[in-house]
Amino acid sequence: MSNRTFTLADSLYQYVLSVSLRESDVLRRLRQETATLPMAGMQIAPEQGQFMALLVRLLGARRTIEVGVFTGYSALAVAAALPDDGRIVACDVSAEWTATARRYWREAGVDHKIDLRLAPALETLDRLLEEGAAGSFDFAFIDADKTGYHEYYERCLTLLRRGGLIAVDNVLWDGRVADPDARDADTEAIRAFNRALSGDERIDLALVPIGDGLTLARKR
Ligand code: CA
Repeated sequence: MSNRTFTLADSLYQYVLSVSLRESDVLRRLRQETATLPMAGMQIAPEQGQFMALLVRLLGARRTIEVGVFTGYSALAVAAALPDDGRIVACDVSAEWTATARRYWREAGVDHKIDLRLAPALETLDRLLEEGAAGSFDFAFIDADKTGYHEYYERCLTLLRRGGLIAVDNVLWDGRVADPDARDADTEAIRAFNRALSGDERIDLALVPIGDGLTLARKR
């Protein structure tokens, strides 16, 4: 996985950041702290966080879902772009990583917008559906275990309103999706997921080569 836009050469990537990145001090410190962790590659790229915040503002989103929180960078970027009464239902299973997330969310003053559910994401999404939340969300970001992508996507699609947007991370998987020698389960799952969405008539679709590849699916 890659936590920068890996499709750009280093010099051009640095140029993009130098002329466009507007990262808050809290986001930057969270990114720097996370970069010291062994799982640092799971953090999204800063330019991707800014891009998703822009999408959330364009959508006028108030209710959003996040599947896979890690240390909370993407949720913080999205929460800062939501109105004060906006809410993220944030799904993760790690109390350890999300403790870091909570610390930075509090510091940024957005913790009241983030409803962290520490449970398998499918349980949380199914509970939302049981509670009648279908069709009520504006935006969802999926960035968790790759073999679970398709089920997360189906639940989120049901939970979204028409015109709502799902963003799915790591769909280029550091280029391995196009490497015929890569046959591991994660790569195969992402390939199958990308193939399924290409023919999915329920959505408008774009695969944006930012970060590690970000698929945008707008519910028709
Ligand atoms: Ca990711």
